[in-house]
Parts: sequence; C-alpha cells; structure tokens
Amino acid sequence: MNSHYDIAIIGGGVNGCGVARDAAGRGLSVYLCEQGDLASATSSASTKLLHGGLRYLEYYEFRLVREALQEREVVWRMAPHIVWPLRFVLPEAGKTRPWWMLRMGLFLYDHLGGRHSLPGTRSLDLSKDPAGRPLKPELRTSAFEYSDCWIDDARLVALNARDAADRGATIETRVKAMSARREADRWTLTTQNQRTGETAVVEAKILVNAAGPWAAQVLPSLTGAPARGVRLVQGSHIVVPRLYEHDRCYILQNPDRRIIFAIPYEDDFTLIGTTDLDFHSDPAKVIASPSEIEYLCSAASEYFAKPIMPTDVVWSYSGVRPLYDDGASEAQAATRDYVLELDDTGGAPLLSVFGGKITTYRRLAEHVMERLAPHLNDEARRIGKWSGGVALPGGDFPPDGVDALVKGLRGQYPWLQDSEARRLVKSYGTRAARILGDAGDRAALGVDFGAGLSEAEVRYLMTEEFALEVDDVLWRRSKLGLRLSPAEVERLAAFMADCAATRGATSGAELRAAL
Ligand SMILES: Cc1cc2nc3c(=O)[nH]c(=O)nc-3n(C[C@H](O)[C@H](O)[C@H](O)COP(=O)(O)OP(=O)(O)OC[C@H]3O[C@@H](n4cnc5c(N)ncnc54)[C@H](O)[C@@H]3O)c2cc1C
Repeated sequence: MNSHYDIAIIGGGVNGCGVARDAAGRGLSVYLCEQGDLASATSSASTKLLHGGLRYLEYYEFRLVREALQEREVVWRMAPHIVWPLRFVLPEAGKTRPWWMLRMGLFLYDHLGGRHSLPGTRSLDLSKDPAGRPLKPELRTSAFEYSDCWIDDARLVALNARDAADRGATIETRVKAMSARREADRWTLTTQNQRTGETAVVEAKILVNAAGPWAAQVLPSLTGAPARGVRLVQGSHIVVPRLYEHDRCYILQNPDRRIIFAIPYEDDFTLIGTTDLDFHSDPAKVIASPSEIEYLCSAASEYFAKPIMPTDVVWSYSGVRPLYDDGASEAQAATRDYVLELDDTGGAPLLSVFGGKITTYRRLAEHVMERLAPHLNDEARRIGKWSGGVALPGGDFPPDGVDALVKGLRGQYPWLQDSEARRLVKSYGTRAARILGDAGDRAALGVDFGAGLSEAEVRYLMTEEFALEVDDVLWRRSKLGLRLSPAEVERLAAFMADCAATRGATSGAELRAAL
C-alpha cells in the first residue's frame, strides 16, 4: 500500500466517501480510513429522503433547500437503482401551520429550481382518494401531494467508496485515525486496525476531517486544536408491518410543531420517523429509547385509523445529526446546512466538515475541492467539477429503466423470480449480472443464506463493497436483517469469518486481495 497521498480523509460516511470519489476523479491520490464499517454511523440512520426539506423553508434556509432540490434529480440520474421518486401526502387535518403558508411553501418547493422530471404539487380530496383510506375518518378532508425522492443511504456510501476505489483511492474500514502530526508540507497520520490492533503511518499533503458526530472531538484528539461547535441531535425511527397498501408517503404535523414521516419500506413494512433530541453522550452508543418509540407510535396513531403500538415495532434505529452549532434554541431549528472550515495557516491544510445532508453530499464534496483548490495540482484544478454527470457503480441506465433491467435479467437468468431480480436490480443496478455471472441455476450461486441472499452475493459484497462482518451485509449493504432468522444470521456470520480466517486476512484490503 502506498503511504504518501495527496489527501487523507478521516471518516467513511457519505461526506468522507463523497469527497474521496470527487478527489480521486480529479486524479489525486486519496486515502480514507473509517473506524467501523462504511456508513456505520449517521449515514445509515437517516430517513433516507433525497429531499429539498420542505420544513427548512420555515427557517429561511433557502440556499440549502434550493441546492437540495437541485440535487434530487442529479443524484437520481447518477444512481437510479438506489433512488426513486416518491409522492408525499400532507393532510390538512391536524394542521399546526396555516394552510396558505403550506401552499406557499409548496409553490416555492416546485419553483426554486432543479425540478425537470418529478411531477409538481396537486391538491387531494382525501374523502375520495385512496390515500384517505388508512386515516381516521374525521381526518379524510383535503391534502396536498408533492414530490421528493427515496434513497438507500448506506448503499450510496458504499457505491461512492467503490467508485473512489475504482479511480485509485485506498479505502480502509475498521481502521481508526489515532493521531496526526502536522508539518509545513504534510500530515503524518497514525492509524490503528480495530480488528488486529496493528498501527500504521500514512502521509498526506492535505487532511480532511469528515468524522461526522466525532468531527469536533477528532480535532483536539488528533491535533491538539480546540474543539469546534457541533450540535449533536439524535433522531430515531421505527419500522412496523406495512400500514397501508398504496405506495405514497405521509408527512404528518404534530401538535409540538414537529413533523414525522410514514414511508413504505422494504415492500412489507412502514418506516416512521423521526425524533429531534439534543444528544450529549457517545455517538457510537445511540439507540432509540422507549420514550422515543412511544412518541413515534402515538404521533402516527393520531392519524392512522389503526393505532400503532410499541409492540408492533419490528426494528428501530437511531442516529446522531452532526449539526453545525448555530446557537438555535430548539434542536429542530438548528441549521441543517453545512459549514466547511479550512485551516491552512499553521502548515499543511486541514479541512473540517460540519453538518450536511445525504441529499447534498455531492455538492458538499465539490465545495470541499473548491476550498482546497489553491493546494491542488494543476491537473486536479483543470479537471474541475465532474461528479454529477457520471453514474455511480451500477447506475449506468436511464432513471426510468428499472423495469427494463429486471426484464433483461430475467431473460438472461430465467430461473430468477421477479421479486429476486427486482431486489438485485434495486441494489446493484447493471452490476447485478456480476453477482450472477454465468450461473445456469440457483445452485450455482453457492450457499443459500435465506431471503434470497446467496454465497455469490456475499462474496461480491466482501470483495467489491468492503463488507467484513455480518451486520455490514444485513443492515447496511442490504436490509435483509429484517428477514433472516437468528440461525440464518449465525450461519452467515460463520461463513464470513471463515472466508477471512482461511485466507489469513485481517483487513478489508487483504481480504479483497485474498478472496
Ligand atoms: C435521524 C436522521 C435523519 C436524517 N434524515 C435525512 C434525510 O432524510 N435526508 C438527508 O439528506 N439527510 C438526512 N440526515 C442527515 C444525514 O444523515 C447526515 O447529514 C449525514 O449522514 C452525515 O454524514 P457524515 O459523513 O458527515 O457523518 P457519518 O455518516 O457519521 O460519518 C462519519 C464517520 O466518521 C467515522 N469516524 C469518526 N472518527 C473517526 C476516526 N478517528 N477514524 C476513522 N473514522 C472515524 C465514523 O465512524 C463515521 O462512520 C438525517 C440524519 C439523522 C440523524
């Protein structure tokens, strides 16, 4: 492994991996270390909306909303396998904001820019529209329906990392940045493999701190610099058996002025979230608390005819928003915009990322490169912005092309069921065929771990998508954790450990080389 790089990045969330991809695509040599798995922190715990953020208009965040609205269709085109359009139903009932204000907000939402393919807002009569049926009878009055998109957040991160690696970046998972020494023209970063305890040294001309909720702590612990203001705000989600048949989402206003979403999830479930609570503990240990689960159940039960109980919850997850601390009094009012801090006065440059959204990760990466431009070589500056026009791995097909791809896959592999082909296409896009290879039947894919997860797919995830442990496969590269039994999980874990052990691999890079 090379140990001298142009840029070293701490953090394998959406922002770190987005910066790695952008920088590698400009011909720079890039190193990224992630202390856990890719997207193991905030970037797999979002509501998974590629959205402008209707709510942020209330806080006059026009710059952020406009950029996010524009990015919806850009990222959709880059990754049509993991992004798809959604329609949101906003019932008038339960209103905590004047109806004219919401109408005006949605007008702005439709016209701030960037909407070319997504349909605009329309009014609904919930006494007649099927979207009224799951709601309490007295709430079936009027509603607005508008567009945003869905995105598989954790897969977005893995695809950015894969693409960065395809462009020459070194991506190391389960490797923690322990300390960093600054000199006039370089950083010396000491890392530690979290599985073996081994340490290594990496040198880079530029250091990027994309450590998300840890971004403020990383600075003093690595460099001795004072901690910066990051406001940690916890958000939790619950997953319950599917609440209704249609494919639209609900955006529901609560008496406390917060809003929650109810979103169709993984075919058989509904995702409900989120909460907004200041958080003062270790981000690695965040979990949905019983009171948050209670809050989400009762907020949704205010709207749906069938009450939702904590006992209905099949899974919950929680994450910590690493927001820039703008001094807002309420957690829900803290800015969702990002702030980049460049410190290039005391030697080699250090750029820290605070805040950000899944939706705007690509623009954030572009802004990072703009800020670093004076420190980049001529070639990198000449290449300039490129990332929005190039598909992510597997995303090289038209935005409305999922059905055609599923049909093509079934034509090539007639033994594949429609639901299986669809899951593979909506995870891997055109790269699904790399998993299936020349398999003439199901048995050729090796061990069947349950719910359609084959040995061939697991090997692909381990060699191509940096998966090392069972949760990487079941909860981040896929959501098959919702479907596998404990015995099946155990069998998969044993298989993955065996793969690594028999090859003597202790790191992702070694495993990929060995498998
Ligand atoms: C509840 C919730 C809902 C959200 N919903 C949405 C949404 O619907 N749409 C949207 O656009 N955005 C949403 N967001 C925002 C979005 O998820 C975050 O802004 C984004 O994921 C932050 O990414 P990041 O890369 O900065 O941080 P992270 O994903 O947390 O990545 C930082 C990484 O750095 C690693 N790290 C830390 N220290 C070290 C070290 N010393 N060495 C090596 N690695 C280290 C961590 O392990 C971590 O993986 C939501 C956020 C939350 C919490």
